[in-house]
Amino acid sequence: MKGLMMDYQLTIPSILRRAEQLFARKEIVTRLPDKSLHRYTYADFARRARKLAVALRDLGIGRGDRVATLCWNQYQHLEAYFGVPAAGAVLHTLNVRLHPEELAYIVNHAGDRVLLVDRTLLPLFEQFRDQVRLEHVIVTGAGDSVPEGMLDYERLLLEADEGRYEELDLDENDAAAMCYTSGTTGRPKGVLYSHRAIVLHSLGSALPDALGLREADVVLPVVPMFHANAWGLPYTATMVGAKQVFPGRHLDPVSLLELLAAERVTVTAGVPTIWLGILQELDKNPGAYDLSSLRAMVVGGSAAPRGMIKAFEERHGLHVLHAWGMTETTPLGTAAVLTAELQQAPKEVQYDYRAKQGRPVPLVEIRARNENGLVPWDGRTMGELEIRGPWIAASYYNAPEAADRWTDDGWFRTGDIVTIDARGYMEIKDRDKDLVKSGGEWISSMALENELMAHPAVAEAAVVAVPHPKWQERPLAVVVLKEGQQATKEELLDFLRPKFPKWWLPDDIVFVDQIPRTSTGKFLKRALRERFRDHLMEATG
Ligand code: ADP
Repeated sequence: MKGLMMDYQLTIPSILRRAEQLFARKEIVTRLPDKSLHRYTYADFARRARKLAVALRDLGIGRGDRVATLCWNQYQHLEAYFGVPAAGAVLHTLNVRLHPEELAYIVNHAGDRVLLVDRTLLPLFEQFRDQVRLEHVIVTGAGDSVPEGMLDYERLLLEADEGRYEELDLDENDAAAMCYTSGTTGRPKGVLYSHRAIVLHSLGSALPDALGLREADVVLPVVPMFHANAWGLPYTATMVGAKQVFPGRHLDPVSLLELLAAERVTVTAGVPTIWLGILQELDKNPGAYDLSSLRAMVVGGSAAPRGMIKAFEERHGLHVLHAWGMTETTPLGTAAVLTAELQQAPKEVQYDYRAKQGRPVPLVEIRARNENGLVPWDGRTMGELEIRGPWIAASYYNAPEAADRWTDDGWFRTGDIVTIDARGYMEIKDRDKDLVKSGGEWISSMALENELMAHPAVAEAAVVAVPHPKWQERPLAVVVLKEGQQATKEELLDFLRPKFPKWWLPDDIVFVDQIPRTSTGKFLKRALRERFRDHLMEATG
């Protein structure tokens, strides 16, 4: 017997309709390139998103066509987030930190027909323009200086007749957006989000035990809108009707802190690098910024060091919410929210749990597997994390060679090596390729990094596996000291000693000025492995 409920399609235009009806007067604020603030309302935003849909259809763009964006976190990007899918097309966000060659590859692989590019990113576009075939290039924020052969975004909207906007009969399983994984693992691969996945992800991430977003919030995503849809925040915030604040391209600690304080932001989100920078600035100038409205800083993308979570809480009264996800998981998978029982536990135990990646949000299931099969949920046995749910990718776009990322029974193999404890808290020990395999035993590079970053003199630490004549691989720590601070190799090893088995300790610690990063702000361990490949061979040989 079938249930007798409406067959209501879960689509992005349904979020837009709701936002306009219920939150018309709520604000959306953007920091412009000259640092001034642009403000308008949800009503303005919704009208312009619809006009964009009309304009795209007038350009001949329709169902399934890919429309790329090369933009910062800015209001025009939000309009594209809604306007492109409303036209039946697919929003394809391009990562501005990629190499031009790689961008060209991605645009061609995706078959993008249109590009929406911010004026400030035109020099980047020029570097791959002649390697791609686009039918239209639309420039935002250009004023009177739109280059030959390109279209002015504002003029397009001005000329689009809002009255001709028609809501399409969209199927919730139609593609709405697309994002390429940033290639820390091989060639970039396209993840194709459906309307349904985005709507369900928005509901799931707004739940109290996930990110806990609501209408009263003021949300500032530092995580770029070209990185896994800014963790879905623009969609989630629009669904719940929160005020939204976009930092544009001003992502240095001082600019962000000023904006967090001035706009009374309640929830913000970004990768650990951002927060480590902010922590240093707050430590230098305690009391300089009024962050009394800020109730959660969501941290993900890389592990949030336990020491950082504790420092924010104890030195500045700020709450870090640690979450995990991937481009392939829309991206939210788990969040380290404390259960009622753990909220009664001693503070140090709470920090232990909050430094884990957390429990799966509703509708997401996790398990982990090693060579002996599925691992027990004992918090000790390591295995590769597998995941399934309505917003987890079922395959990549046109990449049959990557089919082995899914198990025979259809779970996605994440490449993250984890433990899961009896309460269901997942903890990432490493990425598969970053584990240090020392004489057949596994050493977690992340556990060592986390502990090193808890040392008061250490700004950043990356631990990599380097070849070793006896043990195949041994850990090497690469450390950046805080400005004006000193520490020796011996001091740091002494600091680690009480916390790890002897054979886990790095064979050497080298000090550098900075650690190379990927386009999404993670340590580029590949480059470190390359640079220090012979380090222990020479030292021991
Ligand atoms: P890429 O690393 O290729 O840029 P993603 O941006 O999709 O791809 O990153 C997903 C990966 O980031 C995860 O598989 C995991 O290794 C890492 N990651 C994400 N969140 C966390 C976290 N909270 N702690 C540790 N690692 C994380």
